[in-house]
Amino acid sequence: MRLIPVIAALLFATCTASKLPPPPPPDLINYDPDKDSLGASDAVIHRSNIFIHPRAEFPQWLTDITGLHQWPGLDAPYVSGMNFDFTGIPQFQQYDQRHCERTYGINSCSFDCGLCVGHNDIRHCHRLVQTFDDGPTADTPTLLHYLKGANRKVSFFVLGIQVVSFPEVFRSMHREGHLLATHTYGHTHLPSLTNEQIVAQLQWSIWVMNATAGVIPRFFRPPFGGVDNRVRAIAERLGLTVVVWDLDTNDWRLNDQSRSSDEIYGQVRVWKNNGVKGIMLEHDNTLFTVAAGIEIAEIVGKTDYTVADCNRKGTPWYQ
Ligand SMILES: [Zn+2]
Repeated sequence: MRLIPVIAALLFATCTASKLPPPPPPDLINYDPDKDSLGASDAVIHRSNIFIHPRAEFPQWLTDITGLHQWPGLDAPYVSGMNFDFTGIPQFQQYDQRHCERTYGINSCSFDCGLCVGHNDIRHCHRLVQTFDDGPTADTPTLLHYLKGANRKVSFFVLGIQVVSFPEVFRSMHREGHLLATHTYGHTHLPSLTNEQIVAQLQWSIWVMNATAGVIPRFFRPPFGGVDNRVRAIAERLGLTVVVWDLDTNDWRLNDQSRSSDEIYGQVRVWKNNGVKGIMLEHDNTLFTVAAGIEIAEIVGKTDYTVADCNRKGTPWYQ
């Protein structure tokens, strides 16, 4: 059943380059997600307000699938007409962030509660690899400009709502050959959601990536590291492999000045000089984190490795 949205999206995407309705008026949404429970990693977007301005075109094929005419807000709706097959999805209890008492140890294999890593998850790499979450943003082009000049490729885990707001930046990421993966639609802690809500968060992110740049991602990074075997099973059914991280730069702490850039660069130099390998967690959603990303790239040195290469060099990152 999971092939249906993919096939439908591909089919309609190639057939509907004609007239599109004018973009809807700006839909300002107050964005104030919680902090996370992994030492507040991946929490850079907890800044007080992000305003979403829908600019991406909403294609006719998506209206045909969903019956809607514009991009949804953070809580993207489940589209029942897709007939997602929930058979065999593990029935672990939903748990909110930091409520780890509701998880089931090794059976549910939560990453944010216990750092459990699933059999197919990607958490480590045999190179030092840069990964950027929470974009695209107005600050991403600065990073793209640097990467293009340095002839480097990185992995971007994008938010659907950000692709909606910055479709041109997202197309630039694609044109310049970077790995594009999903970080959900609205940056939600997925284990706290119902099965249907999890499908919606992943499916809408895939749809906007497809509608904007014609790509269907194969990798997925859970916001706040929030993933257990229930979330994994649903993601897998959508063709997505979970990617987490093992080296946290804590770059988001630059935004509230709780960590200095020198501390971050010093940590990365220690990794580099000691031959430490792995997947570094970074963000591309403020000037501070983008500047750090550029400096970290300089420290790491020439590499064009993406998370797809952490499994096997040359593995496609798209479906
Ligand atoms: Zn994030």
